[in-house]
Amino acid sequence: MVERNRFTTIIVTGVPGVGKTTVLGELEKIARKEEKNILVVNFGDYMFREAVKQKLVSHRDQMRHLPLRTQLSLQRLAAISIREDADKILDEDSTLIVDTHAVIKTSTGFWPGLPREVVLELKPDSIVLIEAPPSIILDRQKRDTSRVRKDIADEKLIEELILMARIAAMSSATFVAASVYTVENIEGDPGYAAKKILELSSMLKK
Ligand code: ATP
Ligand code: AMP
Ligand code: MG
Repeated sequence: MVERNRFTTIIVTGVPGVGKTTVLGELEKIARKEEKNILVVNFGDYMFREAVKQKLVSHRDQMRHLPLRTQLSLQRLAAISIREDADKILDEDSTLIVDTHAVIKTSTGFWPGLPREVVLELKPDSIVLIEAPPSIILDRQKRDTSRVRKDIADEKLIEELILMARIAAMSSATFVAASVYTVENIEGDPGYAAKKILELSSMLKK
């Protein structure tokens, strides 16, 4: 039997710099106005807090270059903590949205962000793929000096990552019979994708 959380759970994915965190910031603003009960959490924040505690990294973009077994252990801890935190505060009417990645480009190859044990912990109803044309993603990466994405700053590589992310999202979805929902993050209008994800959340509750 496929299990579900009592709240609706949506995992939001997309290649680095496509605009997940920006879109979900917009979504939080809309949700506040409409008094919708939505919790947005960032998977990387959970991993980063633990990685800093263990003195493994000084900034978040270093984590995907740690030894794979170290990343695996941080990933597992993050999934458990997110599920525990959400379980404490969310009810049947709420939605949990997790900002994360279907695939990570590590130093040792493409690696699943949502392997079986993570998906079984989070039990998503749906996995969202946020997409945009590779050239636009590259421009967004270049404009965003707050992050270190030079290991991914190449149009061909971004194209490959988008393809890998689609494959990875569908593979992860099969573990829990989640749907995979693709939405474009339109240049200059992150609110568009935010509204589409809110609509998805409403549809999942019907
Ligand atoms: P990461 O996976 O590395 O955390 P991300 O997908 O969360 O990346 P953001 O940090 O949200 O990406 O966005 C990257 C950059 O793109 C930011 O500078 C942000 O302002 C810009 N951006 C995001 N969405 C849009 C948009 N729709 N139009 C124009 N710029 C955007
Ligand atoms: P982000 O800010 O979303 O890019 O997250 C920062 C970093 O956290 C990413 O570059 C990855 O190293 C790590 N991370 C985020 N989500 C996952 C995940 N599901 N599995 C493994 N690593 C992740
Ligand atoms: Mg982000």
